[in-house]
Amino acid sequence: MTAKIIDGKLIAAQERDELSQKIAADESEDMPVLAVVLVGNNDASRIYVRNKKKAAAEVGIGCEVLEFAESIGENALLEVIDELNDNPHINGIIVQLPLPSHINSLRVLSKIRPDKDVDGFNPYNAGLLACREPEAIVSATPRGILKLLETTGIKLVGKHVVIIGRSNIVGRPVAMLLLNQDCTVSITHSKTENLPEIVYQADIVVAACGQPKLVKKDWIKDGAVVIDVGINRVDGKLCGDVDFDDVLEKASFVTPVPGGVGPMTVAMLLKNTYEAFQKQRLNGNVHKCSCGKNGCHCEHR
Ligand code: NAD
Repeated sequence: MTAKIIDGKLIAAQERDELSQKIAADESEDMPVLAVVLVGNNDASRIYVRNKKKAAAEVGIGCEVLEFAESIGENALLEVIDELNDNPHINGIIVQLPLPSHINSLRVLSKIRPDKDVDGFNPYNAGLLACREPEAIVSATPRGILKLLETTGIKLVGKHVVIIGRSNIVGRPVAMLLLNQDCTVSITHSKTENLPEIVYQADIVVAACGQPKLVKKDWIKDGAVVIDVGINRVDGKLCGDVDFDDVLEKASFVTPVPGGVGPMTVAMLLKNTYEAFQKQRLNGNVHKCSCGKNGCHCEHR
């Protein structure tokens, strides 16, 4: 068997196109606005933020990047979040992770107003997802993974999904989302014994452990779907947590790195931002300044 490659780049472009048409067709002159909080000088974070800003502009979402020195204190950062929460021009807030080690990330993420928490990392939204509540804002990477799985056409109900990784931002929310799709979910991690044997039981493998090319073909059951979330740089080259070339002959579908889950994450973040904007508008939370536009850059701000 040679696996079909799930083209995340293409599917993400289609998602962004659809979104951009919706935003362009929106009769009001309002514009959704995303605020991105960036702390310190992490090169990878800077690249991610640049990509998000560019993608936002392409679909018609405003993006304000607020940059702070590595030395910013936790309280000062919490105040920044409070201001963004109260700023009616801002519809979505994300904090680029990782934060410096002197800052408690969970405390900062918990401060984001749930209806502006477009990364879905606030424990309130994580809790809603765990309780199967449809109004949860689902974080972008899991949402992107679900979309990629849907494009394969396979029925998710009853499938055994093995997730490698239990982080708050990938492993756990993916597990909840797929459990809510009636999958049978196993979550594995760095302390799991007999990992290859467990992965071999999977109809769907989601690798999110940050270990370059950990998953080999003899871990994969014939015909399994393999979703590679990992982004690792080895000798200057990007690779995932799955040995892509190796699993090609066992899997039915596999995502490449780059060009798989990564672009979907950005597309889903934008989708979350637009949906947050729509909900806030419905709830009357969106500020209109005297120029009549939300997200305006006029002197009335
Ligand atoms: P993390 O470091 O927070 O968590 C890694 C998880 O993997 C932990 O739960 C750990 O127990 C588990 N793990 C580590 N080594 C393992 C091993 N040998 N066997 C089994 N489990 C092991 O990482 P994260 O933030 O969840 O990210 C995981 C990977 O996904 C990273 O490569 C990251 O760069 C990537 N990522 C990609 C996207 C995207 O959009 N494509 C988004 C977020 C993260």
